[in-house]
Amino acid sequence: MRRTRLYAVVVGTALVASTALAAGPIGAAVASGPSGGQTAGAPPVRPGAPKVPVMTGGGGAVSSVDDVATQVGINVLRKGGNAADAAVAAAATLGVTEPYSSGIGGGGFLVYYNAGTGRVQTIDGREAAPSSFTPTTFTSPDGKALDFATIVSSGLSVGVPGTPALWNEATRRWGTQRLSTLLEPAEEVARRGFVVDATFNQQTADNAARFAKFPETARVFLPGGKAPDVGSVFRNPDLARAYRELSTNGVKSLYQGPLGAAVVDTARHPATAAGVSVYPGQITRADLARYEAPVKAPTHTTYRGLDVYGMPVPSSGGITVGESLNLLESYDQRTGTSLSKVSGTQYLHRFAEASATAFADRNRWIGDVKRVPATELLSQGFADERACQLFDSATAHARPIPFGQPDGSYSCGSTVAAQLPPRDDHGTTNLTVADRWGNVASYTLTIEQTGGSGITVPGYGFLLNNELTDFNFTPTAAGVPDPNLPDASKRPRSSMAPTIVLDSGKPVLALGSPGGATIITTVAQVLTGYLDRHQDIVDAIAAARLSSRNGPTTDAEPAIVNGPDGAALTAMGHHLKSVPEIGAATAIRLFGNGLFEAAAETTRRGGGSAQVVNPGR
Ligand code: GLU
Repeated sequence: MRRTRLYAVVVGTALVASTALAAGPIGAAVASGPSGGQTAGAPPVRPGAPKVPVMTGGGGAVSSVDDVATQVGINVLRKGGNAADAAVAAAATLGVTEPYSSGIGGGGFLVYYNAGTGRVQTIDGREAAPSSFTPTTFTSPDGKALDFATIVSSGLSVGVPGTPALWNEATRRWGTQRLSTLLEPAEEVARRGFVVDATFNQQTADNAARFAKFPETARVFLPGGKAPDVGSVFRNPDLARAYRELSTNGVKSLYQGPLGAAVVDTARHPATAAGVSVYPGQITRADLARYEAPVKAPTHTTYRGLDVYGMPVPSSGGITVGESLNLLESYDQRTGTSLSKVSGTQYLHRFAEASATAFADRNRWIGDVKRVPATELLSQGFADERACQLFDSATAHARPIPFGQPDGSYSCGSTVAAQLPPRDDHGTTNLTVADRWGNVASYTLTIEQTGGSGITVPGYGFLLNNELTDFNFTPTAAGVPDPNLPDASKRPRSSMAPTIVLDSGKPVLALGSPGGATIITTVAQVLTGYLDRHQDIVDAIAAARLSSRNGPTTDAEPAIVNGPDGAALTAMGHHLKSVPEIGAATAIRLFGNGLFEAAAETTRRGGGSAQVVNPGR
C-alpha cells in the first residue's frame, strides 16, 4: 500500500535561481499611503517561484492556498528555521494575503509532530466566548433563535482571538526563532502589498455590501468603493502597523495591551454607516486577559495499520474523521470487500454513509463540554456497532441517521433519536509544513465566514472573527442535550481537522482543509483516496468531492452529480445537491529519506501553492 513512486518534479527555474521573496529588496522601508488599497509606493512582494500544486524534493516543504505565504514559509526553512517557525511565518502572511479567511482577529488549531520527542501534540487557538455568555445569548425572549445573518455581521459574534496566542505558544514551545522575526515577512507584505488574484477580488466583491456597512472595513478593503481589480496591488499599512505592534510589544499587546483595547472597543461599539445598527459585542479586556491557547493531546485512531492524529475538542475534526475511518474499516469487515477493491460508486456510497453516521454522533456528543466520550467515539467497537445498525451496501440509510450510544457496551441494539444537523459556513485556510529534521505542522486557521464579522479594527487593518456563530443558537433537537450551546468563556465547536499520519512512529503524511463542516469529509476523502484508492496525493486532492453530513441532501461536486456515479448514487437513495467546490486541501507526503512531496489544489480556489526547499533533491 505504501507507494514509493516520486511524482514528477514541477518547478520553474525562478525558484531555483531565487531565494528572495520579493521583486524588490526585503526590508525596503517604503511607506505607502495612509489607507489600504491600491496606493502607489514600493514594489509589491511577489513569490520567487511559479504557483504550482505539486513539487517534490528535499530540505523541507510548505503547502498553502497562497504562493506568497508558501514562499515565506520556504524562505524560513531555507534560512534554518524549523516547521514551527515556518508555519507561524506563513500563517502571519496568510493573514495579509488571505485576510478574509485568517489573521490576528481569528483562531485556529495546530497539530505538530516533534521529531525530537517523536510525539504529536496540538495547540488549541480557538476563539472563546465572553464570560457574559449564556445558553440563551442567541435566542429572543420567546426562545426562538436570533437571525443568523444579523448576528454574523455584528459585534456579538466576535470571540476572543486565539491566533496570536497560538503563534506565541508554538514559537515558544517548538520554534527556534523569535516571534518578532517570524512576523517580519508578513509586515513587509502588508506594507509593500501583493498582487490581487481572482479569488481575492471575488471574495471582496462577494462581501462588498456587508463591508460597506462598516466604514473602516470599506476604507481598508474597498478602496475607491469597490473590490480591488485582479492584477492591481493591494497594500494594508494599517495591518503592517498591527504586526509591528505585536513584534515590538509581544502578543500581550493583544491580550493585555493597546491592541486588545482596540479589539474590545471595536467589538463592543462597532462603527457603522449611516442608518445601520448592529448588535454590540460583549468581549471585555478581562476576557482577553484570561485567554490561553492550551497544548492538548491529539485524537488518535488507527487506519490501515497507520496512526492518524487529529485535533481534539473543541474541534470535532479529529474525532469525526477518525470515526468515519473506523466505520469504513467496519464496512470492509461486514461486506468482506475492502474499500480498495470496490467500484467508484460503492466507494462514494460507503464514504457518504460513514461520514453521515459520524456526523450524527458528532452533533449529539461533541462540543466544548466536560465528558465528551472521545475515546468511545473513536473505538472500533463503537464503529462496528454503528455499522451493524445502519450500513447497507445497496441502499442509503434515510437521513437524518440516528446518533449512537458510545457507552462501552456494543451489540447491534437500538439507537436513540435523530437530530437534524446544525448549519455551517465557510471562511478558513490551511497550511502544511515539514522541515528537514522531520518536524511536521498541520495548521488550519480561520475567522469563520469569509470576511468574518465584517468589522475591521480601526488603524490596525484586520477583520474580527464571527466564530461565536459556530455555536448552535438553540438545541438541535427537543429533549436532547446539545453540547454546542453558547456559554460563559466556552469555545464554539469547530470542524477544523489538521491531521498528521504516522507509520511505525514516523510521519508519512500531513493534511488539512478549510470548508466549514465539509473540512471533515474533505480530509477523510483525501485520506481514503490516497490510502485506499491508490491515487497520488495531488490526485487525491484534485478528485471530485462528496460531503454527506447527515442532512437531507448530500453535497457533491458537478463531476460526481453529472456523471455515472451521480446517477448510481441517486438510484441507491442518496439525494445529491450540486455544489461548485468542496474544501481546499493542502498536504505533504514524507518519504522518510529526506524527500518530501508538497501538494495542493490544482483548480479549487484558483489552485494552491506547493513548494519544497530543494526541488528534485
Ligand atoms: N468556523 C469553521 C469551523 O471552525 C470553519 C469555517 C471554514 O472552514 O470555512 O469549523
